[in-house]
Amino acid sequence: MFDVLREFETDILRCLRCAECHAGCPVYQDDINESYAARGKLRLMRAVMDGEIELTEGVMERINRCLNCNACMARCPAGLDTDMLIIRARCEMRDAGIPVPENLAAVRANIAEHRNPFGLPFSERGGWAPPEALERRSDLVYFAGCAVSYSQNRMAKAALRLLDGADVEYAALGPDERCCGDPVRRMGLEREAEQLVAENREALRARGAKTVFTSCAGCTKTLKSTLGDEFEVLHVTELLVRMANEGRIAFEKAFPKKVVYVDGCDLGRHAGVYEAPRDLLARLPEVEMLEMPDNRDKAICCGGPFVAAYPELAKKFALARIETALSIGAEVIAVACPTCLINLKEGAKSLEGDRRIDIQEVATLLQRSAKPVKK
Ligand code: SF4
Ligand code: SF4
Repeated sequence: MFDVLREFETDILRCLRCAECHAGCPVYQDDINESYAARGKLRLMRAVMDGEIELTEGVMERINRCLNCNACMARCPAGLDTDMLIIRARCEMRDAGIPVPENLAAVRANIAEHRNPFGLPFSERGGWAPPEALERRSDLVYFAGCAVSYSQNRMAKAALRLLDGADVEYAALGPDERCCGDPVRRMGLEREAEQLVAENREALRARGAKTVFTSCAGCTKTLKSTLGDEFEVLHVTELLVRMANEGRIAFEKAFPKKVVYVDGCDLGRHAGVYEAPRDLLARLPEVEMLEMPDNRDKAICCGGPFVAAYPELAKKFALARIETALSIGAEVIAVACPTCLINLKEGAKSLEGDRRIDIQEVATLLQRSAKPVKK
């Protein structure tokens, strides 16, 4: 077992055992147990690969209980891509016929049958988009992502209104869109992920796409890495910065609040987008921008990737991020990812009185102040 990791054996052996990876790992910080941190997971994988130990339920749980947030890699002086190694180990478990963890079985089945994790019909995908955008071909195509399409469509509406206001023409895939494949790839189901990528590639070609933009951080990461060879892939904040720099949106209504932008792991560490959301928020008149103590590539995961598999841990990690934001005096947390939005809002539910905090998605927040400029 884990023979596939032989290819990376020299990488694994490069681990300096320095424990730098412990600091940014929410899973390890929650349960101070070596085997939950990257260093311990690598040691376990090597022990299984070398036949020193069996692949027990306990080892599998260590491999599964990882957010794939890449905070370990950002701190690793040896530059070990632990996220990739953990996903490869999961792939090998799937190839050996070991089923996905019980809590994720429904997500997998829903994606296989309905092409979204929620098991909702294709017909409901894109009901929020202007009908003409669902029909037309365009160089610029909107890819909403499953969470935005089905549960956070305010994010899509806000983004598209900003484009509509500035007379920017675009197409929206709507029912032609499929899950980007990230959830199944994280489960170690590479072939299922590749099938979804192929279907999305065809749908984008059919619409004449040259540039694809999305409101979802996970989709940004996945589309950039899987379809970036053929299309320019932008997170919506990157497109809006471009529009603002071209003078197509101006922000005129004051927003006199202390705002902290909380980096999502998929958009930041995985897709390299750190500045676009900050740049946009800083344009709001009278806004005061704050920073989390750990930000950009050192940001700590909000727990969003655990929403389905470990919901209680996801909530706990979210609350920890909110407490940090409160401790620096933030009045508003801004995010650029539907999963961060859902999870942080869930984590904030237990807060009362003056510990309540407003949690907003960037485009939704900007739309209140924006004055689109028609050219
Ligand atoms: S990817 Fe995140 S959760 Fe997983 S071991 Fe690294 S820091 Fe911990
Ligand atoms: S930070 Fe990198 S080199 Fe250091 S213990 Fe963790 S995995 Fe090994």
